[in-house]
Amino acid sequence: MSTYEYDFFVIGAGSGGVRAARTAAALGARTGIAEARFFGGTCVNVGCIPKKLYTYAAHTRHDIADSAAYGWHTQTPPVFEWSLLKQNKDKEIKRLNGIYKNLLSAANVDIHEGHARISGANRVTVGDREITAKHILVAVGGQSFMPPVPGIEHAMDSDDFFELTSQPATVLIVGGGYIATELAGVFSGLGTEVTLAYRGDSLLNGFDEDIRTFFTDAIKSYTHLKLNSDIERIDTLGDQKQVLFADGSKQTFDAVLYATGRVPATANLGLADHDVRLSDVGAIIVDGNFETSMPGVYAVGDVIDRVTLTPVALAEGQALARRLFGGPEQRVSYDLVPAAVFSDPQIATVGMTEAEARSCHQHIEVYRSRFRPLKHTLTGRESFSLMKMLVDKETDRVVGMHMAGDDAAEIMQGMAVAMQVGATKAQFDLTIGIHPTAAEEFVTMRTPVDD
Ligand code: NDP
Repeated sequence: MSTYEYDFFVIGAGSGGVRAARTAAALGARTGIAEARFFGGTCVNVGCIPKKLYTYAAHTRHDIADSAAYGWHTQTPPVFEWSLLKQNKDKEIKRLNGIYKNLLSAANVDIHEGHARISGANRVTVGDREITAKHILVAVGGQSFMPPVPGIEHAMDSDDFFELTSQPATVLIVGGGYIATELAGVFSGLGTEVTLAYRGDSLLNGFDEDIRTFFTDAIKSYTHLKLNSDIERIDTLGDQKQVLFADGSKQTFDAVLYATGRVPATANLGLADHDVRLSDVGAIIVDGNFETSMPGVYAVGDVIDRVTLTPVALAEGQALARRLFGGPEQRVSYDLVPAAVFSDPQIATVGMTEAEARSCHQHIEVYRSRFRPLKHTLTGRESFSLMKMLVDKETDRVVGMHMAGDDAAEIMQGMAVAMQVGATKAQFDLTIGIHPTAAEEFVTMRTPVDD
């Protein structure tokens, strides 16, 4: 019998921490978890879930507009009430918080509410209580990074977005990645005039170039897009924010939102006192078994900054708990992690970009299709979808798939399974399509585009 109070103690009840704790407890480990803020972490409280709910609200605007082409007469102009959406969102998030807590209790995980820090070998302090544990997991996630621009305190981040009780009429969003593009679609769909300022010349860095070009062009239809744009300073002007851009121009907005990346939340955890090594970007360095440089201390999820996506944190947390407490072996593979941006249009991807594919394969065939979805043949909306498939000619294996358009995320989840089992282009060609869908395009792409 171990002399420690717990076999496993988890700091942080977000996606990775909760999954690890529940898995460990189910395998018979005496498990405790500490949470200082909210159960469910970023994803449930200020990330994936509320964001997706807001995207539904934003998309409803398009659905209402499109309905006329399908014979619907709306009697009065629809009115959007921001505070009602927020109230309903808050209610749902509160419900999910409760569910996360209940899942932990039902799994026999002891809950400690409060800030936890490592206080020694096999020791964690929560408030004024010292706890001993054989294994300690740090799964505290990340937090917004805001560059040190003068007046940055007048800007909000994505956490603040979810607390907004009223709708700004105009907003400046700074950044060109996941959060900036998603919130541009949300704000605009809900009726806010959006300006998006990005320091580069094409949005969604890291995605396939065709997708980036397509998206950067598409977003111009509903935002004022300022590319190669930097912000010098932000001042307040009454209730408004006045922004001075590096080109000398000035503009005022009701709100300024920075979405310029997230960093691991490693402060005040006692890591430096105990030689837990951090990378240059402040991420906890772990080995192949998620163990840090301090024996018996592990880390998973955004705090290790490998692939900062909820499903990856879940996989890491589960794999660690299984390994420590005798569950079935699980390897976390960072290859072929599908990802989606819930922007307008939606983006989803799995596998290599064209540039990556060309750098590691001799001969890549590119299949590409751009089309107007059937729905918009009646509405006349200038909305298009782009699908792209990359095939290694030598093996015929599909090495990358990319889509921009309606339902891209739902479609790409299934494609990720096909790629996971190494599907070849010939096998895609053999697959019968479901008609009429956008997804069938992926099994009917017959002719590669010219190099
Ligand atoms: P991203 O890394 O996606 O984007 C950050 C953006 O900010 C980039 O365009 C970057 O430019 C720009 N930037 C960085 N530093 C500065 C600076 N000093 N000044 C001006 N611009 C700057 O981060 P996000 O904050 O959007 O999202 C964080 C992470 O959260 C994502 O990487 C993703 O892992 C996760 N996430 C996932 C979602 C999903 O799965 N749908 C949704 C939201 C978040 P550049 O490109 O030039 O570096």
